[in-house]
Amino acid sequence: MNSTECRNRAENVLMHTYGRYPVVLDHGDGVYLYDTDGKQYLDFSAGIGVFALGYNNTAYNDALKAQIDKLLHTSNYYYNEPALLAAEGLSKASGMDRVFFTNSGTEAVEGAIKLARKYYYKKTGVADSQIIAMDHSFHGRSMGALSVTGTKKYREPFEPLIGGAVFAEFNNLEDVKSKINDKTAAIIMETLQGEGGIHPATKEFIEGVAAICKEKDIVLILDEIQCGMGRSGNMFCYQKYGVQPDIVTCAKALGCGVPVGAFAATEKVAAAFEPGDHGTTYGGNPFVCAAVAKVFDLFEEQKVLDNVKENGEYLYEKLEEFAKENACVKEHRGFGFMQGLEFTMPVKDIAAKALENGLILISAGANTIRFLPPLVMQKAQIDEMIEILKKCI
Ligand SMILES: *Cc1c(COP(=O)(O)O)cnc(C)c1O
Repeated sequence: MNSTECRNRAENVLMHTYGRYPVVLDHGDGVYLYDTDGKQYLDFSAGIGVFALGYNNTAYNDALKAQIDKLLHTSNYYYNEPALLAAEGLSKASGMDRVFFTNSGTEAVEGAIKLARKYYYKKTGVADSQIIAMDHSFHGRSMGALSVTGTKKYREPFEPLIGGAVFAEFNNLEDVKSKINDKTAAIIMETLQGEGGIHPATKEFIEGVAAICKEKDIVLILDEIQCGMGRSGNMFCYQKYGVQPDIVTCAKALGCGVPVGAFAATEKVAAAFEPGDHGTTYGGNPFVCAAVAKVFDLFEEQKVLDNVKENGEYLYEKLEEFAKENACVKEHRGFGFMQGLEFTMPVKDIAAKALENGLILISAGANTIRFLPPLVMQKAQIDEMIEILKKCI
């Protein structure tokens, strides 16, 4: 099917929730994608931070193929070995005790909210609790996750959402403190805000929030769906800051392409859930868990974190140079393989021009280009990206 026919037929049948670029992607190899006309694209978005290991990774593909021939799905009424290995991998990587697998990031956030509320309910015997969330946060599109998402544009058309969400200014500890009361069950935040425009938490802020949560027995939920799984140069971004949450949410690069998310918690908090409190038909099925287990193996074998540390710094230097040379760049933020350039104007045209020039870039908010490459990206391709970016402004 040619590209035009595919695009036209898709526009007739898919709901109009995305303004798609006029490109039909066909296959990928390493850090490059190819469209149906054979045109090559250097990928600095990794399917929104998903494809960490690069496309067409043979070891990953073989693990999935082997699992397809054994067992795809069973339900959570029975045990399966891939789920055990995947849970052990996530528990070890995150420092959390117990894991629940979901089908997406949004569902991981839903589960985390439910667990925090149940913990509060069990402790106090009172059901009417509150959750403090941050301005400009993003936690997903379901009604619960949307309720704690700090962008009015996403929330307003769908109100009323779930009650008890209170918003505070990100990186303003005093504001968070002023919103805490006896009803506060949890504080939820991204360690490094993604969709909101690549804003890292300051060290003082995250340390302060963690300390007050500990002091008042408030559940700290860190949403690491985007910044977790190695993107920061640490397995989880909070490890970079030296803090531990009570619950972490994870998705995107967790399965590197299969739809899977998870929330993981300390024993103390996880104990609030009893059989029947939460469930899922697909979540943690053998197919997606075979992928997750393989992802953790490959992170070690391919020394993914070392690459992010080294080449994340290289990307930082290159983007710093670029920011200094171009007056239209307002600010450069982030670290590892999660960085952003805020421009003085909307970046829609830059992303479109990049695509024409064989580079995939995505925005985060109207004025920020976000760089979320596969975690195996090398220096030569970073140089290649900068050369194309120069042509696009
Ligand atoms: C992408 C994202 C989500 C939502 O995940 P989905 O898999 O799209 O449901 C939630 N939180 C953060 C921080 C994200 O980046």
